Amino acid sequence: MKPVNLPPTYNYIGIFLTFGCNLNCSYCINNFEEGVKKRKIISGKEWVRLLNRLESRPDLPVTLQGGEPSTHPDFIYIINNLKTSLNIDILTNIQFDIEKFIKEVDPQRVKRPAPYASIRVSYHPEVMDLEDTIRRVLRMQDKGFSIGIWGVLHPLYKEHILEAQRKCRSLGIDFRTKEFLGEYQGRLYGTYKYKSACTKEKRRRVLCKTTELLIDPQAQVFRCHHDIYKNINPIGSLFDENFQIEDKFRECDWYGFCNPCDIKVKTNRFQEYGHTSVEIKFLD
Ligand code: SF4
Ligand code: SF4
Repeated sequence: MKPVNLPPTYNYIGIFLTFGCNLNCSYCINNFEEGVKKRKIISGKEWVRLLNRLESRPDLPVTLQGGEPSTHPDFIYIINNLKTSLNIDILTNIQFDIEKFIKEVDPQRVKRPAPYASIRVSYHPEVMDLEDTIRRVLRMQDKGFSIGIWGVLHPLYKEHILEAQRKCRSLGIDFRTKEFLGEYQGRLYGTYKYKSACTKEKRRRVLCKTTELLIDPQAQVFRCHHDIYKNINPIGSLFDENFQIEDKFRECDWYGFCNPCDIKVKTNRFQEYGHTSVEIKFLD
């Protein structure tokens, strides 16, 4: 199949291997859209064939995520068979068989020079045990994996997350926090570049350009998290032999209902603060 080149402005490649998960957090973003967790998946062999089309840069890995990517039946096969010029990052809740993973995956395959860990464990205190999470992470760290923990500063769990961070740091684990994005008790949390993008008050037609390649469990390509979760307006599919990424502004009439992930002010892949996934031009 023809190679797919990544525009130099692209900052992230998110591979949603599955929207399914082995946990059930009440605030899970995947619960927002009806039926999203049931979206069909494709096989590991197909993923390897399709993802190996991507011509990326050493500092732009493919990030295997979800849902929980380890619940894809060919999770390890995909890691072990992607071409070595594609670096791999993983976002996971680490509820998988870590001994099998340690036995079958070379730690060097999921490691690269970056200011943050390649395997990023999301710690969800509502459904995960801190001691068990620490044990798993330390075991993988001891075996040479680049691994760290991220906790969301949800208003309900903020104190616990900060305490967990202190504990993990004292044990030599890189534990970072993330801003909570979304609504809690009628208030919208998060720092957003475009103030009215996520208020869900009024839809507006805008022009929007992304810096992220987001690929859903069926290898459809989307321009933003709003579209991928809603399964609307794919800009193409990796199954399409002629698919190429066009780095351009596209019309969208969903502004106002944007997903916070696309609008939040965050760090880029160099951990520099101030980046936003999309750029929006207003037509009115
Ligand atoms: S671990 Fe992540 S994907 Fe799974 S239910 Fe919790 S928030 Fe959702
Ligand atoms: S305006 Fe919002 S919903 Fe529309 S493409 Fe951009 S990020 Fe997505």
